[in-house]
Amino acid sequence: MRTANHGVDVVIRGGRVVTDSTEGAFDIGIADGVIAAIGEPGSVVADEVIDASGCVVIPGGIDPHTHIQWPLANGGTAQDTFESATRRAAAWGTTTLVDFVPGAPGSLLAAADRRLGQAEGAVIDYSLHPVVTELNESTIAEIPALIERGLASFKVYTTYGSRLESADIRRFIRVAGEAGGLPGFHAEHHALLEDALAATRKLRGTRIGDFPASRPGHTEAASIREITGYAEEFGSPVYIYHASGLDALRQIEEARAAGTDVRAETCAHYLVYDDSVYAGADGWKYVITPPIRPEADREGMWRAVADGRLDAVASDHCAYSVADKAAGFEDFTAMEPGAPGIASRMPLLWDRGVRSGRLSLRQFVDINSTRPAAALGLTAKGRIAIGADADIVVWDPDGEWTWDAASDSTSNGTDYDIYDGLSGRGRPRVTLSRGRRVGGSGATPPRGSGRFVPQRIQ
Ligand SMILES: [Zn+2]
Repeated sequence: MRTANHGVDVVIRGGRVVTDSTEGAFDIGIADGVIAAIGEPGSVVADEVIDASGCVVIPGGIDPHTHIQWPLANGGTAQDTFESATRRAAAWGTTTLVDFVPGAPGSLLAAADRRLGQAEGAVIDYSLHPVVTELNESTIAEIPALIERGLASFKVYTTYGSRLESADIRRFIRVAGEAGGLPGFHAEHHALLEDALAATRKLRGTRIGDFPASRPGHTEAASIREITGYAEEFGSPVYIYHASGLDALRQIEEARAAGTDVRAETCAHYLVYDDSVYAGADGWKYVITPPIRPEADREGMWRAVADGRLDAVASDHCAYSVADKAAGFEDFTAMEPGAPGIASRMPLLWDRGVRSGRLSLRQFVDINSTRPAAALGLTAKGRIAIGADADIVVWDPDGEWTWDAASDSTSNGTDYDIYDGLSGRGRPRVTLSRGRRVGGSGATPPRGSGRFVPQRIQ
């Protein structure tokens, strides 16, 4: 342990601290937004003291997959902005997120500049995954420049109109991997999805209850098999977005066993719910791709979270309104897939993970902070260590909450919520982003106080 009494602006005192190497009662000193001291209780002195008694002190949460202010297929935009969404994230303990540069025809660098402009309102730090929807000479030429600027983790769709086909998927992995980037994928095999949808239409129909049958787990596994095969061929790391269940997980593990660097996230909704949600009258809320899987998958994903086989739990947040989803109430093929979840992610992971006994405190910090930072090259984030950014949450493990779409403080910021009515415990007393109070009582971070964080993939 190091101690320092000079130049420390703030000390966090009295909590149980999870540092990158140990767990215990420590003072944490912050200077100029960085962790400057970790010492025995009473050893660090500063004018401002944050009382953490009764709390755990953990690194801020990292949400690696959000769609803020997202352009919708119906021509509208999701019901939030970088400012409103990041205020909500910070209020519930998330201090860094990685959103996307939406795919658009033309220059990837110009699209990135437009998106960086939109993101300026954020109150927490952020990075962006560029979405690549066309591969040609000019987009290929821009990929190294994006990586150089720190927009180094990408997303390619393997289905939907914006997908790349196999030859371009393979080429993209080669190009992005050779340039030091992290090629990432929405992995659902398009031809197999079309086949499964045709069979579902014929045998069942396209009402909400039929939705999971239209996107079975083998479609995810086949896509991951293809992607990881190319990754192995070129020695490139790859990132798999929103792995939903055991079919995906087995394929990821098989590729890792063959020596491929496969990084993967799951999402909160795959850990909280099983596919019985589609039988309910509000089943439309859960039309998300890939679909929410059966109970055995949910339990299997929790085990993978606990033992370090997954790198992050994302929200895949998109703040649709009920009106945005309504076209698909009677026919899931007409629905915009996705759901809001930027605020609920961390309290749910705590309550269903730590409080339920599935995760230790260390395992929670690993999946919520340390592993996502490492997977996505956020080198100053995700751990309590000297020199790391002071992105810290003083977390009250007993603080109660009940999620309520009608409330401003316990919702994800739109007019419906897939977690409406759930209750649990665990919430921030104070959230700090680079030492500034961004969440907890009385925090009013100024618009735009968050910063773009360049990624350095390792
Ligand atoms: Zn997404």
